[in-house]
Amino acid sequence: MQHIGGDGYSVGVVSISELDPRVLQPLWDAMRVHGDLLASPLAPALSALLFHLVLCAPFLALDALGCVCSSVRAHRISGGLKPRVVLRQWSESFWRMLGSYAVGVAPLTAALQYLRTPRLPSLAPTCWRLCVDVLLCLFVFDTLFFIWHYVMHRSRWLYQHVHQAHHKYHRIPIALAAQDASAPELLSLLLLALGSSWLLGCHPLSEAAFHLLNTWLAVEDHCGYDLPWGLHRLLPRLGAGAPHHQLHHILQKGNYAPYFTHWDRLWGTEIR
Ligand SMILES: [Zn+2]
Ligand SMILES: [Zn+2]
Repeated sequence: MQHIGGDGYSVGVVSISELDPRVLQPLWDAMRVHGDLLASPLAPALSALLFHLVLCAPFLALDALGCVCSSVRAHRISGGLKPRVVLRQWSESFWRMLGSYAVGVAPLTAALQYLRTPRLPSLAPTCWRLCVDVLLCLFVFDTLFFIWHYVMHRSRWLYQHVHQAHHKYHRIPIALAAQDASAPELLSLLLLALGSSWLLGCHPLSEAAFHLLNTWLAVEDHCGYDLPWGLHRLLPRLGAGAPHHQLHHILQKGNYAPYFTHWDRLWGTEIR
């Protein structure tokens, strides 16, 4: 007798759901209870903002500590950390980012989410599927970001009207700057991230994991600290990391890809 799994997949006489322990099922079941919330129009913008603020919080604490503790300051890539300047940057950046979300990101992603009516399947993805989905999403997003970022620097109009706001921070970046950009740029980046997972047809749980990792990596790029677990240290030569992106901010050119270095090496735009 052929067994068919709850998700409809079957292999010979044993369904994939029987082979796979589905360790993520309890987590997914708990999330599905709040299905209306997950599918609500404001979910993409609110979750992106919330993830970002939570992941930035430790760096705010570090920067505040760095104002009084020189050994924390010494871990900053750029070295110089003028207490009042940095804390004022955090405050200005926060209000600018909130403004961009209010006028651009939230209304437009709400309209998209409303049109899309996301599906919430009963089965969770396998751990393997989730990892593959997240990695593929990261590579697709990195590629799309590289192209879009390069185009924004090559087009004078796009640079001035869309991207220049993000280049406020030349030498002393702060974690919050990852999403301190003009409303059109912030919206475009969120659409690239959403588009990467929609293009690959990911499970919503994989999608959520990708957005969380994507938000973290963007924060890491801008945090101003050379972390021991930075992507450039975990994946030497392939991972970009904070020093790589900080060079882009200092020189205002090159190193266009956010997380990996292969596109910049192939395109001849890598700066080391
Ligand atoms: Zn940046
Ligand atoms: Zn740039």
